[in-house]
Amino acid sequence: MSTTTTPATSATPAAPRSVTVLGLGPMGRTLAETFLAAGLHTTVWNRTPGRDAALVERGALSAPTAPEAVAASELTVVCVVNYAAVTAILHRPEVADALKGRTVVVLTAGTPDEARATGEWAADHGIRYLDGAIMTPTTTIGTPDAVFLHSGPLALYEEHRPVLDALGGTHTHLGEDIGRAAAHDIALLDIFWTAMAGYAHAVALARAEGITAGELAPFAQGIGAILPPLFAETAQEVDRGTYSGEGNPLTSAASAMAHIVRASEAHGIDTGVLRSAEGLARRAIGLGHGGDGFLRIAELLGRG
Ligand code: NDP
Repeated sequence: MSTTTTPATSATPAAPRSVTVLGLGPMGRTLAETFLAAGLHTTVWNRTPGRDAALVERGALSAPTAPEAVAASELTVVCVVNYAAVTAILHRPEVADALKGRTVVVLTAGTPDEARATGEWAADHGIRYLDGAIMTPTTTIGTPDAVFLHSGPLALYEEHRPVLDALGGTHTHLGEDIGRAAAHDIALLDIFWTAMAGYAHAVALARAEGITAGELAPFAQGIGAILPPLFAETAQEVDRGTYSGEGNPLTSAASAMAHIVRASEAHGIDTGVLRSAEGLARRAIGLGHGGDGFLRIAELLGRG
């Protein structure tokens, strides 16, 4: 599967020069602000009225209804809380009619199946559809640090790149399977939320031992920095199906996790997350993989 990641170009988009943004939560507002700052004619709409005041002051056109909003531009970006909200907005007949022949880019977090179902609905209604995911916070939008993932028809993506480029950062087209951006999104957010759960647990354990979060932070950053090279190294192992435990076999990892579980229990701190990881490591050891590296458990998880 070939993908292309390219930085946004700052060249003035030739066409189209307009965009509609549906959804004015923190991210939707930031997208609209960034389009406006890039000089695009930007139309906005939000379920709850009144969230567009600052945008209108900066030149946005406030559409009174969603059908009027989507009729204002060839390209509509939908950035709302989830696909239930996407469906609530788009599946009304008057909105679907107004979208016919136009393009929708859903930059809303959800599952691959939700993106595929939206793709089927769009195809049934003659609507051109790209799905996408935003991997960085609002503060990055419009800067080189923003990261956007896209999936869907390549030609459609390329047609709308001039407008998407106004959002800055890098844009990666991951493939024509409309669910592929969401599939990356859920896998990447899996890393984020399990890491944050681990960090919250570590802070609780440290505090129980009289260590403040501030005291722990510089060392926590050091632990975090170990991970990026590990992702690259272990990815090669996983893709090859070999799991070298040289230097840190599963037997040793399970033992280290057991210390943390015992220390947590001594302080009455919930150990559910870590026990689950330790349990997987012990299962792999039981299956004869004790000398393998930690990523062997990805195979066990994959088997359910
Ligand atoms: P939220 O996730 O809180 O979404 C708020 C928006 O969703 C509002 O416009 C809200 O409208 C709308 N909404 C909720 N339910 C419905 C509904 N049933 N019908 C119509 N509209 C509805 O805010 P964000 O802007 O932060 O996030 C938007 C998307 O961007 C999410 O998918 C999020 O995961 C993603 N994202 C956000 C990032 C961030 O830093 N904020 C970073 C990366 C991705 P109303 O005002 O009427 O309630």
